[in-house]
Amino acid sequence: MQNFHKGSLEVICGSMFSGKSEELIRRIRRVEFAQLPVQVFKHSLDNRKTIEHINAHSGYNYPAIAAENAEAIENFLLPESMVIAIDEIQFFDKSIIDICMKLITLGKRVIVAGLDLDFRGIPFGCMPDLLSRADSITKLKAVCNQCGADAHHTQRLVSGKPADFNDPLILVGAQECYQARCRNCFEITYNSLAQVQA
Ligand code: ZN
Repeated sequence: MQNFHKGSLEVICGSMFSGKSEELIRRIRRVEFAQLPVQVFKHSLDNRKTIEHINAHSGYNYPAIAAENAEAIENFLLPESMVIAIDEIQFFDKSIIDICMKLITLGKRVIVAGLDLDFRGIPFGCMPDLLSRADSITKLKAVCNQCGADAHHTQRLVSGKPADFNDPLILVGAQECYQARCRNCFEITYNSLAQVQA
């Protein structure tokens, strides 16, 4: 028998094109079948198509509240919601961790999806912390754009060339493009990890 007094944290991670949003939507639909009240959020920075939906690359989408920061999520939360889903969680700053933990303490099921590694291959913002605290982790693989192997890296290309290690971290909707790459095909010039900002 399920214990509804304690919440839980599920983290869905992986590179771009690995199906994270699709998996998140799949879980939300199951919650709906179970007729549990659910609220769905995404970061307002992710404006691929609309700021009111989670957009999976496969074409699936799902209505979501676009929040500009962790506090905005807290303001939108309804006490009756049993399940809270957050897409593109890597874009939120580390205060999102406290909010997730607070929700779990209140008995909520928290399901989040996000990039675990940035375009440099460095763990992304709040993700390492969330992964450590998670009850369950699903790491999805994409297909390498170069060789067809399983891919867990996100390759950023600027004018067709691998991006520089020192490029800014977040450039959603800019001119560059992204590919999924395996470890062998991933191209980045590593500088000292000491240069990586926390
Ligand atoms: Zn490859």
